[in-house]
Amino acid sequence: MQLKDMIVPKFKVGSELFIDNELIIPGKIQTIRINAGKLPSDNRINVFAHVLHTDKPGPSVLILGGVHGNEINGIEIVRRSIEEQMYSLVTCGTVIVIPLLNVYGFINFSRDVADGKDVNRSFPGHLNGSLASRVARIITKKILPHVDVAIDFHTGGDARYNFPQVRYSKTDAVAEKIASIFGVRYLIEQPLIAHSFRRAASEMKVPAVVYEGGESIRLDKFAINSGTMAIRNVLNGLGMTDDPEITLPSEQFIIHKDNWVRAESPGMFIWSSKSGDFVQKGQKLGEIKDPFGTKSIDVLSTYTGHIIGHNNASVVSLGDALFHIGYEFSNV
Ligand SMILES: [Zn+2]
Repeated sequence: MQLKDMIVPKFKVGSELFIDNELIIPGKIQTIRINAGKLPSDNRINVFAHVLHTDKPGPSVLILGGVHGNEINGIEIVRRSIEEQMYSLVTCGTVIVIPLLNVYGFINFSRDVADGKDVNRSFPGHLNGSLASRVARIITKKILPHVDVAIDFHTGGDARYNFPQVRYSKTDAVAEKIASIFGVRYLIEQPLIAHSFRRAASEMKVPAVVYEGGESIRLDKFAINSGTMAIRNVLNGLGMTDDPEITLPSEQFIIHKDNWVRAESPGMFIWSSKSGDFVQKGQKLGEIKDPFGTKSIDVLSTYTGHIIGHNNASVVSLGDALFHIGYEFSNV
């Protein structure tokens, strides 16, 4: 079955859309500002949402970035989709585009909000909760009730680079279908994490997938291009444009199980294998050297599989995650 036939749109023909008490005028992209609190300096924080509510029936999609404030590839993917006027090609349904949810983390170069809490572990959120909980609530209360499917764009944490990949729950047929047309090399089966965006969306019957690409704080052309391509593919696959084309890579793999190869010694980390490589158990992936020029150990793969992420940190501690390997996999 095609993706567009798997969705029963929430909006009926001619339904009015109000977001945060603002009426969305059908047929044109409207930018609204949603109050997300204040800084200690009394500056008001707003979350920007660009909304296109067409007057033709079709699916309603949320395109979300910046749940983690320093994961700038995700933010840039969504920002670029607006700059490239991708939504001017949408002929039916509704699109809600939020490039940056966690403004607090963005201005502090941080994954979290100012109190150190993770928005993606604070869903569904509370009106009287912590800052992270209040930010999460914007999505669950003001946005998710209006959408049929959601895509959340992320970037690897800290210096950990993620090869462009889509994460989904294999128990959700719509999310699995979205992943299959996303156009990335790795489709990662991942259970729903407690208090995450995907879990909250799932509980509200909104199939959601998470994109991961690149590393925090550093823009990555490959990850950005893969992400914008994915938005195009999903809009086309949902039948929301006049273009039915889906662009897929030459090889795609479903990763059923994954784990990390960790540092067995602290020191300077020099990798020789990287994300996207296929490696054998026992294969040398890199070296860890002490800074005095006296010791060096080889980092050996504990699995045969695909490297879906690797650590770009130059100095590592004992037990640090070095290579993320998908060791149970199948072809799409
Ligand atoms: Zn993230």
